[in-house]
Amino acid sequence: MPRLVQSGCSDLVLDFVLTGQINERGKPELRLEVNAGVRLECQRCLGGVEYPLRFEVLLELAASEAEMLAADDDVDRVLAGRDMNVAVLVEDELILALPMVPRHEQCQAAAGAKGGAEPSAFQALAALKKLNK
Ligand SMILES: [Zn+2]
Repeated sequence: MPRLVQSGCSDLVLDFVLTGQINERGKPELRLEVNAGVRLECQRCLGGVEYPLRFEVLLELAASEAEMLAADDDVDRVLAGRDMNVAVLVEDELILALPMVPRHEQCQAAAGAKGGAEPSAFQALAALKKLNK
């Protein structure tokens, strides 16, 4: 899953179940249950941080791109095809589920800053600029 790696994921355990069903509107849909764990880089200390990703999504199968564009609701859709790439589908959903800013709940970097006020992002940037000079 190369795009997941590009998103900063360095390790992945993945378990998923993909089933097909007909939804209440009579449309075919895919039900994807994911039980995964990813290792990302903490945005504070740059160490590894593990995240559990457990979710279930319903994806209605659209017969054409026009149908997807015309739909004016918040139903998630994927384009149906004879050959659908399951890895791409699962990767898409994993990427959507990744935290925006991964970091340790109790980060060492934050613990180290205890006792003083936490430096603001601007102060941190200024310090970085000095270092680069
Ligand atoms: Zn951290």
